Amino acid sequence: MSKISCDACLDLIPLVRDNVASQDSRDLVLEHIDQCQSCREELERMTSIPQGVNDRRVLQKMKKQIFYGAFAIIIIGTLIGIGLSESSGMFYNIIIFPLVGGITYLVLNRKAIYFTIGLFIFSYIWTLIKYSIDSSFAKDSILNLLFAPTVLSSIYAALTLLGVIIAFLLKFAFRKEGKYEKDN
Ligand SMILES: [Zn+2]
Repeated sequence: MSKISCDACLDLIPLVRDNVASQDSRDLVLEHIDQCQSCREELERMTSIPQGVNDRRVLQKMKKQIFYGAFAIIIIGTLIGIGLSESSGMFYNIIIFPLVGGITYLVLNRKAIYFTIGLFIFSYIWTLIKYSIDSSFAKDSILNLLFAPTVLSSIYAALTLLGVIIAFLLKFAFRKEGKYEKDN
């Protein structure tokens, strides 16, 4: 008796075919098709589909992984950058935020502008909370306290925007170059 049902086997077959299934799943499928003719035929039918279809699926999967990877880098970079505020490592933010901006543009395209706005707001709230708890920060007026975080946040947003613009220009230049080569 097979360990998995036909439905489970059919779910796993595309993964086995695309070489993305774990060894355990592969073994389960192989064991199942040994005893089940209809699933064996399905696997044969699927593997006979032209390779191009497989490539496209693998490519899509890779794209997704790159997207999530880039997203993680963006979030971690932002947190590190804001976390470095007013520490000796703050200097690195000159590199970190443009990099975050550049990667954001590659992932989100024009929506990277919204990310820059979001980063400004996030950094503002973060710094405001920090200043509020910091007893050494002179809280002589509430206006002063509300205004102080805008300086850092503006710098961070500007650096991120710089990265977005650089990435945009690079992409633009490469596209132009590609077009030029195609035309000639
Ligand atoms: Zn079956």
